[in-house]
Amino acid sequence: MPVTIFGPDFPFAYDEWLRHPAGLGAIPESSRGATVAVIGAGLAGMVAAYELMELGLRPVVYERARIGGRLRSHEFEGGDGIIAELGGMRFPISGTSFFHYADLLGLPREPFPNPLTDAAGSTVIDVAGQTFQGRELSDLPAEFSEVARAWDEALEEIGFTAMQDAIRARDVDTLKRLWNEIVPLWDGRTFYDFIATSQAFSKLPFSYRELFGLVGFGTGGWDSDFPNSMLEILRVVLTNCDTDQQLVIGGVERLPRGLWTLPVSERSPWPAGTTLESLHGGVPRPGVAAIDRSGGRMFLVRDRWGTVRTHGAVLATCQNWLLTTQIACEESLLSHELWMALDRTRYMQSSKTFVMVDRPFWKDIDPVTGRPVMGMTLTDRLTRGTYLFDNGPGRPAVICLTYSWMSDALKMLPYDVDQRVKLSLDALGKIYPGLDIASHIVGDPVTISWEDDPNFLGAFKGALPGHYRYNHRMYTHFMQDTLPPAQRGIFMAGDDVSFTPAWAEGAVQTALNAVWGIMTHFGGTSHPDNPGPGDLFEKLAPIDLGA
Ligand SMILES: Cc1cc2nc3c(=O)[nH]c(=O)nc-3n(C[C@H](O)[C@H](O)[C@H](O)COP(=O)(O)OP(=O)(O)OC[C@H]3O[C@@H](n4cnc5c(N)ncnc54)[C@H](O)[C@@H]3O)c2cc1C
Repeated sequence: MPVTIFGPDFPFAYDEWLRHPAGLGAIPESSRGATVAVIGAGLAGMVAAYELMELGLRPVVYERARIGGRLRSHEFEGGDGIIAELGGMRFPISGTSFFHYADLLGLPREPFPNPLTDAAGSTVIDVAGQTFQGRELSDLPAEFSEVARAWDEALEEIGFTAMQDAIRARDVDTLKRLWNEIVPLWDGRTFYDFIATSQAFSKLPFSYRELFGLVGFGTGGWDSDFPNSMLEILRVVLTNCDTDQQLVIGGVERLPRGLWTLPVSERSPWPAGTTLESLHGGVPRPGVAAIDRSGGRMFLVRDRWGTVRTHGAVLATCQNWLLTTQIACEESLLSHELWMALDRTRYMQSSKTFVMVDRPFWKDIDPVTGRPVMGMTLTDRLTRGTYLFDNGPGRPAVICLTYSWMSDALKMLPYDVDQRVKLSLDALGKIYPGLDIASHIVGDPVTISWEDDPNFLGAFKGALPGHYRYNHRMYTHFMQDTLPPAQRGIFMAGDDVSFTPAWAEGAVQTALNAVWGIMTHFGGTSHPDNPGPGDLFEKLAPIDLGA
């Protein structure tokens, strides 16, 4: 088996559940057509809405901004199908539930041009004023290989290979035994703590930690995550989130949009040809302003223009803080412990700036060096990561001039798009002194700061030390049989709820947990041959660290 995003906290085989010919389950006839409010038309909302429709329920999708959420593919004006991925852009092949839906929709994909990959061709690393270029790690000075080795050794100090082997083999007992030892040990400690106290890095000069922070593993730029809980980083590497990544040709927003227009399968009680779009008359309902229950069984959902609709269940997939700021959510619907977890959720900032260029000029060969004039660039300067997208012969190309997180993203926050382009070009000009990148720009640039958008307030969750219990409360909330009746029927899903935030697979997996919870709420069950996440919960549950 290849390594997949199988646990480690909740090692349920979502891909097998999805693939099984029996489907995800069934609801009693009396529940058919019952409405479920789905708040947010991002990936989690769309996956859940599609599967709830498959079951015969009637999802009612509310969206404050646009379908796709953080999968937002901006099409450059004048460039036919030339896009910039403003949110998620590279998807690890280990995300098998994400690719289940991408494949269902027949979305074409190709390797993402990450540093030191064949897809990037040439990679340039600019650190402390020195510039190195290569196609693979062995082309770079020995320090880079030593850093990579130190990282591997540091991971081995806490039993990496044994855990990853258990993930590969889907050996639940071994994985649970190993991971459950790690959780209490590392929940309270940061990524930086891990690096600094590892035997492997302690032997090396400080400059190796700096190099690691810049180039690190996989996609690079990991020093932005140094304050995060080490558990979060371990999940990324254990499940190969940061390797073998693909981009979706034509834009990943095609995935949530494709689910909106995908007809139900033959299994669904809805008539052939029914789609989410047809159930909604073409558009989602407006953003949600309030959720309450007024003591009854049904939920009352008020949209931002004042219309109140009644629903049998609610699924919230919007950013967690919005449930206390943008949406007036009756407090008694969730426990105080859960409110605490939602409000303590910590989000990372992220900024990206893209330009369309006339052609992939970076492939031109410099007559002096005999190398491409520019490459995918990692730097300690303002831009941090610069990515190059070749759209094929005769078509404009795209440069993500800068993709950064946390402090580096905040540096850009006050500036408009033109200023961000200028700042980026200045930084890149120091790395490529003879190259006139600006002369290739065509069309209007585009930029984003996710923290600046009232519907997102950040890019994605980045759990801090001590946040495992918060994650646990949110993640396990779909198991509602022990909750007081007044707290049943409202569910949550998405990146913020997942144990693998910043990866779309987590949005899909938590959406599927919610689908199981909602199906059960309406008296439904999984097929006996195809148990769902809730059916296997007791065996697979994430370790409970107690109060
Ligand atoms: C900069 C960036 C880079 C990323 N890179 C990657 C990557 O390379 N690979 C990867 O796998 N993942 C990546 N991700 C993560 C991935 O994009 C997310 O995991 C996924 O898109 C989250 O989907 P979601 O449905 O949970 O949330 P969202 O997409 O945020 O959906 C929530 C929706 O709720 C809506 N909403 C808000 N308020 C209301 C309201 N009051 N009423 C109704 N609707 C409301 C929002 O408008 C939004 O559409 C990245 C994310 C960002 C931001």
